[in-house]
Amino acid sequence: MQSFQAPNRILMGPGPSDVSERVLKALSQQTVGHLDPTFVSLMDEIKTLLQYAFQTKNELTIPVSAPGSSGMETCFMNLVEPGDKVLICINGVFGMRMKEVAIRAGALVETVEFEWGEAVDPVRVNEVLAAQSDIKILAFVHAETSTGVSTDAKALCAIAQEHNCLSIVDAVTSLGGTELRVDDWGIDAIYSGTQKCLSCIPGLSPVSFSAKAVEKIKQRTTKNFSWFLDLTLVMDYWGEGAKRTYHHTAPVNSLYALHESLLILKEEGLEAAWERHALHNKALVAGLDALGVDMLVDADIRLPQLNAVKIPEGVNDAEVRSTLLQQYDLEIGAGLGKFAGNAWRIGLMGNGCSKKNVLFCLSSLGAVLNEKGHDCDTDKAIALAEQVYG
Ligand SMILES: *Cc1c(COP(=O)(O)O)cnc(C)c1O
Repeated sequence: MQSFQAPNRILMGPGPSDVSERVLKALSQQTVGHLDPTFVSLMDEIKTLLQYAFQTKNELTIPVSAPGSSGMETCFMNLVEPGDKVLICINGVFGMRMKEVAIRAGALVETVEFEWGEAVDPVRVNEVLAAQSDIKILAFVHAETSTGVSTDAKALCAIAQEHNCLSIVDAVTSLGGTELRVDDWGIDAIYSGTQKCLSCIPGLSPVSFSAKAVEKIKQRTTKNFSWFLDLTLVMDYWGEGAKRTYHHTAPVNSLYALHESLLILKEEGLEAAWERHALHNKALVAGLDALGVDMLVDADIRLPQLNAVKIPEGVNDAEVRSTLLQQYDLEIGAGLGKFAGNAWRIGLMGNGCSKKNVLFCLSSLGAVLNEKGHDCDTDKAIALAEQVYG
């Protein structure tokens, strides 16, 4: 055995996304103690930067020390008491995962399901909530990474409020990539990930809870099934002003990296980041069209940061992806769940959402498709993408 040498990949799949030199440099600094006064100030800054990214004043806004799925568990384990009725909207893999997690938290789960490639329909959700007044929580995925679909979080949270429900929102792929406003939209509990549009390393999950959600957690009469994710304990370490006491050893270096990636987002500006994702998506879609690669999702609900495309007729899925990886160091995503085998997922997330990556993806995908017998005009694809950039 010898030291691991990571290849220099370009990550254009469903996450992780390309991590910038700045973030890698922050990460590689010397580790300090997790109660070191300098580290405690860093934690405070991370909370402030996360409040900016989420557009919230919620005091309980922290990164959970584990990947996006742990943020999902944090929301359900803390907000659900055994026997609570929870309505989960399912339009892809991550809605299905929410259901699994909610069941483990002791919820009585109701679901409202939609076709793959479609958004959650607020009208149908409203009907279910109107018919069942004992539902306490509404949960849905804002940006469904398995299909590349965006759902109207603002409308759904307004409906949840009308029916006196708390909302749990999966923003793992939306945070930093598309419009998201926790306070304005009245979101009660939200979780994200660091390796998608924040372009940080994987392994942390930013979460935020409204005052109403915190109240529900305080009013619990049953003990949280999870010790590690129990927010009443985690807050002894992350809480405001209070003397910080040991709960678990924070992933110190990962938090250096998160701080840097959030700072980069703040410097660019949230709105500018959203616009950048929209612009490069437009260029990518124009080019893909010229390559004869069709989008699977309608333009009005399509996520700019995650493009589900149809694998052209007669083209071998695995062969194209492995050729891209081996010959071009380019990773694109395979289809997931019902889309496995008939879709690719091309990510334009965070630091990886750039003109350079769009043009590189079009030229290498075009070359590989031609090599594998699918005739396409790569030059035209590049020209059409360039036209979008003006
Ligand atoms: C990636 C993803 C998750 C899971 O995040 P992990 O960091 O892989 O645990 C959850 N929800 C959505 C929508 C995702 O895209």
